[in-house]
This record gives sequence, C-alpha cells and structure tokens, in this order.
Amino acid sequence: PKMSGPEVRQAFLSFFQGRGHTKLPSSSLVPEDPTVLLTIAGMLQFKPVFLGQAPRKVARATTSQKCVRTNDIDNVGATARHHTFFEMLGNFSFGDYFKKEAIMWAWELSTVVYGLPPDHLDNAQIAIMWAWELSTVVYGLPPERVWVSVYEEDEEALALWRDVVGVDPSRIRKMGAADNFWASGPTGPCGPCSELHHDFTPVELYYDFHPERGTGPEVTLEDDSRFIEFYNLVFMELNRDAAGTLTPLAAKNIDTGMGLERMAQILQGVPNNYETDLIFPIVAKAAELAGLDYAAAPPAAQTALKVIGDHVRAVVYLLSDGVLPSNVGRGYVLRRLLRRVIMKGRLLGIQGEFTPAVAQVAIALSGDCDPAVAGNAGRIIAEMAREEALFSATLSKGQKQLDDMLARALAAGSSSSSDGGSSSSGPVLAGADAFLLYDSFGFPLELTRELAEAAGVALDDPGFEAAMAAQRARSSASREAVDLTADGGLSQLAAALPAGTSFEGYGASDLVLAG
Ligand code: ATP
Ligand code: MG
Ligand code: MG
Ligand code: MG
Repeated sequence: PKMSGPEVRQAFLSFFQGRGHTKLPSSSLVPEDPTVLLTIAGMLQFKPVFLGQAPRKVARATTSQKCVRTNDIDNVGATARHHTFFEMLGNFSFGDYFKKEAIMWAWELSTVVYGLPPDHLDNAQIAIMWAWELSTVVYGLPPERVWVSVYEEDEEALALWRDVVGVDPSRIRKMGAADNFWASGPTGPCGPCSELHHDFTPVELYYDFHPERGTGPEVTLEDDSRFIEFYNLVFMELNRDAAGTLTPLAAKNIDTGMGLERMAQILQGVPNNYETDLIFPIVAKAAELAGLDYAAAPPAAQTALKVIGDHVRAVVYLLSDGVLPSNVGRGYVLRRLLRRVIMKGRLLGIQGEFTPAVAQVAIALSGDCDPAVAGNAGRIIAEMAREEALFSATLSKGQKQLDDMLARALAAGSSSSSDGGSSSSGPVLAGADAFLLYDSFGFPLELTRELAEAAGVALDDPGFEAAMAAQRARSSASREAVDLTADGGLSQLAAALPAGTSFEGYGASDLVLAG
C-alpha cells in the first residue's frame, strides 16, 4: 500500500524519535533570525545553537519544518519538484551522536541489512547510515535506485557510502562546492554535504541495456527527468569568519533536510509533487472552479493550476503565521504570491471571487502540518477575500490602461505597415508600456501578454527586459547599503525594498541558507 503524505511525515519523525530525538514543533515562517526574511530550512530555528550562541535544549531533535523559498518561484509548476511552500523533515544533532555509539550501533545492527560496521562511529557516519536505513528500510526504496553525491574533497563520506553502506561506486558522485558544500551565508557555520537522489528509471529500461539509463560516467544527477534529490545531509563542522577563515566548530553538528512532498511523490508513484495527496486536492478544486478536468487540460493550464496549488498553500501558512499583505518585506512576498494566484485564476477563466474556496481546501489539509492553521481559518479567509477584491480593482484599472495602449499600438502598427511596406512586423506593445503596467499598476506581464496577443498585438520583450533591468539596477543600488548580517537588518532590508521590487529582489536573503 502506498504511504500517504501524513504517513511519510510520521514515519520520518517516529524513526528519529525512536533514536533519541526529541520531536520539536515547526517554527514560524517568520524567523526570529533578523538576517533572513522567511524560514527557508529546518535548521534555521537551531542556528544560534549551531553557532554556539545559545545553549542547546536537547541533544537531538527532529522536526517537520514549514518553509518558504521565493528563490524557487520560477520553478513552481515548471519543475516537478519545487515549491515556494514545502515541508522539510529533519534530524539534528547538537554536538551529539558521539558517546552512545556502541549502544546505538547494536540497535542499528539488528535492524539494518547492510554489511558490517566499523567499531567506531562519528556523527557523520551515523547520519549516513540512518539516511540509508530510512530510505531503504522505512520508505522501502530499492537500494539500487538510490544514488548519492558527496563533496569532492570529502573522501570520508565517499568511503562510508562505498565501504560501510555498500553503495556501488558507480552510483556515488563527487560534486563541487556549489551543490555539496553548505554555508549559512558568507560567515557562519558550514561544512560538506551529501545528498540522496532517487532514480526514476522505469523497470523495463533499468534492467535492460540502455546506455542512456546506465550508470556510467556520462550519467549525471543533474538529469531531472531521471533523478530527484530528496534528502540532504549537512556535516556541519566549520565556522567561517568575516575574513573567510575556517575554524572547526566547538561541537560538530548534523543538519539534514528531506522534502516531504518529494518523498511523497516518489512513494506515491505520481509524476510530480503536485499530484500527491498533500497538494492535489487544492489543484483539483481550482480546476473544478475553472471548469477544467486537470488530467485532460492543456499543459499551460496544468501549470497554472499547479502554481495555484503551490501559492495558495504558501499564502495560507504565511497568513496563519501573522504575515499581512503589504508592499514591503514579507508582506510583499505574500501579496505577490496571492496576486499570482488571482492572475492565474483569471487566465484560466475563473470569474468572481475564488481564492477563499481554494484556500478552504488547503486549510482542510493543514492539520498534520500545523494545527494552528484551522484556528486561524476565519482570519485567513477574510484577508484573502480582501486582497482579492483589492487586486481585482487594480486589474480593472490596469485593464483600462492596457486598452488605451493596445489601441495606440494598433493604430501605430497599421500606419507603419501601410507606409513602410517592407516591414513584416505587426502592431507591438512597447516594452516601456508593459513595464509601466507591471510596475505602477501591479499588472502581471503574463496577463499583459495574454491580453495583447488576443488583440493581435505582440509584446516587446527585450524592451520590457530593459526597463526591468534598469529598475533592478536602481533597487540593487539601494540594497547594497543594507548589511544583511547586521542586527536588526531585516527592518532595514524591508524598508530598502521598493514597493515594485520583483521577486528576484529577495534572492540575496533567500539564498543565505539554501543548500
Ligand atoms: P534542489 O537542488 O532540488 O533545488 P536544494 O539542494 O536546493 O534542492 P536543500 O537546500 O538541500 O535543497 O533542502 C533540503 C531538501 O529540501 C531537498 O533535498 C529537497 O528534498 C527539499 N527541497 C528543497 N527546496 C525545495 C523546494 N523548493 N520545494 C520542495 N522541496 C524542496
Ligand atoms: Mg540540490
Ligand atoms: Mg534549490
Ligand atoms: Mg540539497
């Protein structure tokens, strides 16, 4: 029987609770850490402990952490595996996993199926063995379907996977620092990581000879049609100071993250995270409101429905955690996500207020992730309805502007084609016009394009990009003055972000913790 999303979550937490980890609640999406805009990883609530700035409350912890990563927004709906909102399952060691190795090992040995262990284990070794056991025993992934990556200089991890766990060396890949060295920012705790990837190769191709499905050096874990990264183990052992000097942390730590939706995708045998039981009911509700059958809908409509499924979850949890739509900081992230939902809904032909109905489904699914959401349902729904009304008014205002611009473009287009003769180009909406709509009227480019094309007017993309780049240069100039690591940096950051800042404006703060 396939594991449901809640069962995948529970299996992880129970596995580590059974190994001495205290199950701790997810922290809020609004982090205490002033240098990060939103919670983007499970480790964030433990960062002061990892940095030695706060005493540890427990030696080992396991959590299912609500995360929002706006740096992945362009991947939403485009890849099968990226969300803005997702849950990261994690197990953490705060200078632990050392003393009790003999006892723990005895227990491990009786349940795990791989070869004989060395008699001394350190924290990295234990983390690797547990990751393997979890993937192949608890979740039952066929061992030959699991590939691993190690940091290119981490010979110890390589040897562990190969000699202790017994992974065939052809399925172990060395990766550079970009993928497999984790840092919490320019300064702070860091260390090598090791990632587990699932191989989706269909059985019939896997066992026959198919060079493109083989295990030779030409195979790369970056092949997204074949592999999915589902679990990242960080061996946090170093601290980098402002001068770039690496010094060993007083206590070596373990920080891990497994994407709940990704493991659910793998175990439920569906082609993407959106079709798991964790998200699909939201997608299906949006499809129903649009009068569409998701499975039969054209790819562009399916993508729009996935974006709705993703963003509605993000909006619901952000509102529940107290973020309100605004033009700065987190409120701006929330506003843009919600407006994208509304825009996608309009493009799908949904008329009238619809976000509360879709949000109700997300709220109904939220119980195991965050029990507080149900209690906040009234407030969440009211905020969404308010913002939808506001944005619908903005859309009608922008629509008037756009109509004028399109009329001008059509007039200019037809006069130029009648006198020029040689020009093959029809009417074009100037990039500056599209940018004005986007920047001053909050009118999304996709919507502009869609409506312009329906009127027979093409969009001047390079012109739009140029106007956008100029705006970005202006906002990054103002952002350079902000010290992201300074205490109280967040209010400074939020204040420095202009109302029209695009999502890219958040990259710097989002990526601070992205592995
Ligand atoms: P990817 O390379 O796929 O973007 P990542 O290396 O950026 O993932 P990590 O920072 O290592 O991700 O996070 C730990 C785990 O969290 C990943 O192995 C993955 O399972 C999950 N994860 C990361 N980003 C996302 C996302 N945007 N949506 C869903 N799950 C995610
Ligand atoms: Mg990765
Ligand atoms: Mg990523
Ligand atoms: Mg990773």
